Amino acid sequence: MEKHSVKITVLGARGSVPVSGSSFSRYGGATTCALFCADGQYIVLDAGTGLMALPEEAMLAPSLPVLLTHAHVDHLLGFPLSPCAMRKGLALDIYGATRDGLDVRAQLETLMKPPLWPVGPGALPANIRFHELPHNMRIGDVDVGSMEGSHPGGVSLLRLDAFGKRVVFATDCTLEERLSSKLAEFARGCDLLLIDGQYLYEEWEERSGFGHSSWKYVADFAKSEGVPMVRIIHHDPFRTDDELDKEAEELRAMGHDFDFAKEGEVIEL
Ligand SMILES: [Zn+2]
Ligand SMILES: [Zn+2]
Repeated sequence: MEKHSVKITVLGARGSVPVSGSSFSRYGGATTCALFCADGQYIVLDAGTGLMALPEEAMLAPSLPVLLTHAHVDHLLGFPLSPCAMRKGLALDIYGATRDGLDVRAQLETLMKPPLWPVGPGALPANIRFHELPHNMRIGDVDVGSMEGSHPGGVSLLRLDAFGKRVVFATDCTLEERLSSKLAEFARGCDLLLIDGQYLYEEWEERSGFGHSSWKYVADFAKSEGVPMVRIIHHDPFRTDDELDKEAEELRAMGHDFDFAKEGEVIEL
């Protein structure tokens, strides 16, 4: 039987704002971005500052799809100077849902406009094409699905299926009870769940309505759904490496392969 390769690289695991310094060197300070690859078909998930580390091999095909979960700046800030946006002639297919009456083109134009930024997306060297994110589509050998999560202003949770492997990318989401059953159905049978777990339990109570979840709550959800591999993403910008390491002991004990995502980590499925 032909052997297929499905992998995901975590390019940015931090949430809300990028951070730097020695306290964040192990889990990383770059904001949300991941690179999915199935037999050479690359798909970028979100455009946080992690996108600045996009590897060269992802830009060798004539076009590169970029799926955006939503337009909060921590998920877009890597885009304006990213290697893919600066690559002359590369077709960048950017998918995102209309939010607050602005389609994905207008969302990026809002960020990349004086006085916030000097150059709009239309002036970049890459050839950018904008698309409304559908509930289902196929990109090469990859089936992409999306569902609406719970987050201020809205968020798209993403599912990628290729060669019998399923990855679900669920960042920036409060996993409320009514959403849990929908997400369980959407993610059923997934091999890897990347999910927002920004808060500790006690913080989650204080920050209800901020649109994130407690790592313990989402890990419990994943465990009860039988998900074999979980990476908690969107780490709080104040959470140091040492603090994450301390929490990780408990998290790792909760499942077969549960952990906090680390910037640069490559997960082969
Ligand atoms: Zn975020
Ligand atoms: Zn957000």
